[in-house]
Amino acid sequence: MKHLIRLTTIWLATFFILGTVNDRAMGYEFRVLIDAGHGGVDRGAQVSRRVFEKDVTLAIAKKIAEILSHEPSVDTVLTRLDDREVTLEARRSVMKSANADLFISLHINAGFGMTASGYEIYFSEFPDTEQKEPEAGDVIDDMLETTYINNSIRFSNIVDRELGLVFPREGRGLRGAPMAILEDAPLAAVLIELGFASNVDNRRALRDNNTQERLAGVIADSIKIYFAGAR
Ligand SMILES: [Zn+2]
Repeated sequence: MKHLIRLTTIWLATFFILGTVNDRAMGYEFRVLIDAGHGGVDRGAQVSRRVFEKDVTLAIAKKIAEILSHEPSVDTVLTRLDDREVTLEARRSVMKSANADLFISLHINAGFGMTASGYEIYFSEFPDTEQKEPEAGDVIDDMLETTYINNSIRFSNIVDRELGLVFPREGRGLRGAPMAILEDAPLAAVLIELGFASNVDNRRALRDNNTQERLAGVIADSIKIYFAGAR
């Protein structure tokens, strides 16, 4: 465990240095941070006898990064590059330090019976502002948060439409919901559930390299469309 924590720390430090050296001076306009859900001992949902959610999310994250590497205006950073555990705190700390414009967390659903299938897109809901007394600095914070949530919804709509073009009738819609990784995110942030490990057809598709390529292609397209609209 200690070894794992040290590895993660070294990796985070390396990321930070590379991230700094590699900053906007290098010519890109936008940075996307892709978060492959789970990793290491945290395997996530079981997709087949030997394949878990952590493997599928990493494979798709890497494919997205590969596609976007041909896009000079977009820089892609991943929260993990291999099969290792990354804590929620570590992921959130990268969200804060990565200086990214968009955060996408990739997951696979499970449950709701064996017939539930398709993808879901989550973003943070608007906070209930009437509950609290306003304090100094709150106005700016609220404005920023509103911008982040509006942008999260804009990206959610794009990725929902684009996924729907390639995977028709698979969309289960956009959901504003409290998700630990998205809570108080300091940037536009969404979580995509790419399908259901508990559904036999989804399970087969998710471990198929061709489907993974198509999912990655659609998400990369959505990122390009989103950033084109932010210029
Ligand atoms: Zn998950």
